Amino acid sequence: MNKRGHVLNGLLLALGLGFILEPGLDAATATTVAEITVPVVLGALFPDVDTAFGRHRKTLHSLPVLAVFLAYPIFFGNLQYVWIGVLTHYVLDVVGSRRGIALFHPLSDREFGFPSGVTTSSKYADLVTVVITAIELAGFWAIHTYVVSLDLDLSAASEAAAGFGL
Ligand SMILES: [Zn+2]
Repeated sequence: MNKRGHVLNGLLLALGLGFILEPGLDAATATTVAEITVPVVLGALFPDVDTAFGRHRKTLHSLPVLAVFLAYPIFFGNLQYVWIGVLTHYVLDVVGSRRGIALFHPLSDREFGFPSGVTTSSKYADLVTVVITAIELAGFWAIHTYVVSLDLDLSAASEAAAGFGL
């Protein structure tokens, strides 16, 4: 997917997540949307930095990179929500476009992708992006409702890490 697709995906995802985390049409919802939109969109843009540094769809499209973004809020107390943007970028590349991504780079250069998806220049790219975003939001809603709250207050994990002397 191209930059346009990733920004669209990030914006719609952040908007939807705002309503999932803070249902309603009030200031609290608007505040939540504002809080997560910029980090999610930044995360959604980050992996394609490897078009300039490293090898595209390999260097910054891997699970170790995602793990780094998950670790930052826990260990340093910053970059909250950026991992959501990185994750959604991977999903869009794997499901929405023809070419896969090297999830296990640098251990393996093999690219994983679904046969679904369209070329990044397709006229259906925006539609595919919106459909994938809707499916992602349904997934986040189900997880938030039935599995674990996604309010993502990682301060507890951060304190736990501090307790272990990390
Ligand atoms: Zn990408």
